[in-house]
Amino acid sequence: MNVYDSARMADVLAPLGYVPASDADDADMVILNTCHIREKAAEKVFSELGRLRPLKQAKAAAGGSMILAVAGCVAQAEGEELLARAPYVDIVLGPQTYHNLPEMVARAERSRGRGILATDFPAEAKFDHLPEATASGPSAFLSIQEGCDKFCTFCVVPYTRGAEYSRPAAAVLAEARRLVDQGVREITLLGQNVNAYHGAASDGGTWGLGRLLRALAEIPGLERLRYTTSHPRDVDDELVAAHRDVPQLMPFLHLPVQAGSDRILAAMNRRHTADDYRRTVERLRSTRPDLALSSDFIVGFPGESDRDFDATMALVREIGFIQTYSFKYSPRPGTPASVMERQVPEAVKSERLAALQELLNEQTAAFNAACVGRVMSVLLDRQGRHAGQLLGRSPYMQPVHVAAAAACLGEVVALRIVEALPNSLAAELASARDREAERACA
Ligand code: SAH
Ligand code: SF4
Repeated sequence: MNVYDSARMADVLAPLGYVPASDADDADMVILNTCHIREKAAEKVFSELGRLRPLKQAKAAAGGSMILAVAGCVAQAEGEELLARAPYVDIVLGPQTYHNLPEMVARAERSRGRGILATDFPAEAKFDHLPEATASGPSAFLSIQEGCDKFCTFCVVPYTRGAEYSRPAAAVLAEARRLVDQGVREITLLGQNVNAYHGAASDGGTWGLGRLLRALAEIPGLERLRYTTSHPRDVDDELVAAHRDVPQLMPFLHLPVQAGSDRILAAMNRRHTADDYRRTVERLRSTRPDLALSSDFIVGFPGESDRDFDATMALVREIGFIQTYSFKYSPRPGTPASVMERQVPEAVKSERLAALQELLNEQTAAFNAACVGRVMSVLLDRQGRHAGQLLGRSPYMQPVHVAAAAACLGEVVALRIVEALPNSLAAELASARDREAERACA
């Protein structure tokens, strides 16, 4: 979402003459778009600011000026502290205020030296006032939902992004059509809780994510749809049916479970049990048998015993994930879990994380190895590191690279996977016979 937000900030600043710079050295404005989800991410902001300060001073010494802004969730959560600790910052703006950036820039230019703090909440205003999104390649993000009302006890999102808000369906469809007109072939719908989407529809009703996906699938030229991040509680029948009926919807789903122990899930306020999660996965797989899953895990949540952790390991073995993100629990100021008793020692967290990641990495490697020899359709969306190489994503989000003509950039091509590397798949263009075989399997 921060990648999407950064692009929208660039869009909103374009009429003022700002264009993206390749580095910060000589920039007229530097915006740090920050994440507050774990302590490590939040800490980075201050070290980055320390690095930028001399650049700003050098620019001033040379007779120019650099506006330094901090955006995102650290700005929202720690705005005042930020201005106190780094008074050379000109603008501190929370995630729901990007549309006001031009005005803030004008104010910063007038009030040199006095930092501006903008941390208002309503997401509605932001989306209404942002300019049209511009595409930067064949694959694009599109925010449809923001904020969260679930209040998991470990999480800062409800406090930094605010209450849950869904953009009206017509606004989402219009943005998608514009992106497709600009050459976009794949759209990833974004939201902190994307499947809690309940957007106002022009028929006077409310659309859930499943309905929205069906409508998006009718846009000619839009070949691939994805969405992230989903909550296990919000997988309704309409969404499950969309996985069966919408061919553009890729067979890959990021569905965070966090933990496998019901006791810990309850303490996290996740509002589902491990069995609920199993059943949800079963429902999805029964309609779309090739659906591959990804997930997020937290180890060392307060009170997590060895037995609780074993339940997480057991769930992972049982379900099988092809891609994952796993973290040590990081106490976040102001969240209920940060003041719970029985915080888990760092050493135990590290041990559990290592064990979990070993298992998860095995599953990823096994899935990647099983892909060798298969033919997959891949949207080639970027130049590779080597000359004549293009990169893309498989239907299952695996990075794939192939030697192919530059003309293939932006195309969905049939590729035969020839090798599974640690972080990607190597492929070759599939022969006509391969393509026939793929069609026969489909
Ligand atoms: N809305 C999504 C997750 C958004 S936050 C969901 O409900 O699943 C992204 C991920 O960061 C979470 O899934 C969780 O695994 C991790 N995370 C959030 N807060 C954390 C914390 N305090 N410590 C460690 N990991 C955290
Ligand atoms: Fe955070 Fe996700 Fe829980 Fe919302 S549902 S509080 S975003 S972890």
